Amino acid sequence: MSPVNRGAAASSEFQGENMEPTSAGLTEETQAVPAAHSVALTKTYGVGQAAVHALAGITVTFDRGRFTAVMGPSGSGKSTLMHCMAGLDRPTSGQTFVGDLDIGSLDDAGLTRLRRDRIGFVFQSFNLVPTLTAAENITLPVALAGRKVDQEWFGYLVKELGIGDRLTHRPNEMSGGQQQRVACARALINKPAIVLADEPTGNLDSKNSVIVLDMLRHSNRELGQTVLMITHNPEAASYGDRMIHMRDGEMVAPEKDPQWTGAKR
Ligand code: ADP
Ligand code: MG
Repeated sequence: MSPVNRGAAASSEFQGENMEPTSAGLTEETQAVPAAHSVALTKTYGVGQAAVHALAGITVTFDRGRFTAVMGPSGSGKSTLMHCMAGLDRPTSGQTFVGDLDIGSLDDAGLTRLRRDRIGFVFQSFNLVPTLTAAENITLPVALAGRKVDQEWFGYLVKELGIGDRLTHRPNEMSGGQQQRVACARALINKPAIVLADEPTGNLDSKNSVIVLDMLRHSNRELGQTVLMITHNPEAASYGDRMIHMRDGEMVAPEKDPQWTGAKR
């Protein structure tokens, strides 16, 4: 067994009552439930003349084990979609689900648990905790959940991302590329139901971009990790196996997307 597969099996054991295993040991039933989906999702900022329809009715499914790239011009609603899928932002109307969990039904404590246990984030601006070392940043989601770190999985991520010699460094002692590689390990450490990456290579040089993208693709292909990544870069998008285009808060039919549901206002 490769470290990846062993890691997957280990993680599915400690996921807790309301958690579905993310990779190994999936039953057909849990596999049939998509990693995440939205139904007629809208988000409006402001009112009256000043209203901005950031999302104009998005119905989309993210199947388990897929790597979806989201493209579209600035202001088209990509980040808003991701924030609503992650429970970071409440929609104006419509629903979002992670697995079969209706995010709209969660109170603040439930949302915190969801973000901690079931979702991995990678942001363009890294968002590491400045007072923690790289190792502490990576294991933070595990510590917050009161779990034990899967050392084998931790070691595997650190090695793949080439950050073994940075583990005792704080973010201000690391380059942007190193910080994003740490953030990538942090996003994957809990083997979440879905990894959400918002322009993860937006601030990186091409060498670091390739490391981060390779890791996301590897976790997707080898571990069955579901990934949703926003990018402006067609080369980065090509790491995905599915592409969604957004414009003015709507999904624009991609030519080769069999999952596109064609939801319109
Ligand atoms: P993208 O990520 O595709 O660049 P966003 O989802 O960030 O787009 O934004 C979609 C639209 O919603 C834009 O017109 C943006 O200005 C607006 N918007 C996003 N967040 C806010 C906010 N907090 N307040 C008001 N308008 C917002
Ligand atoms: Mg954005």
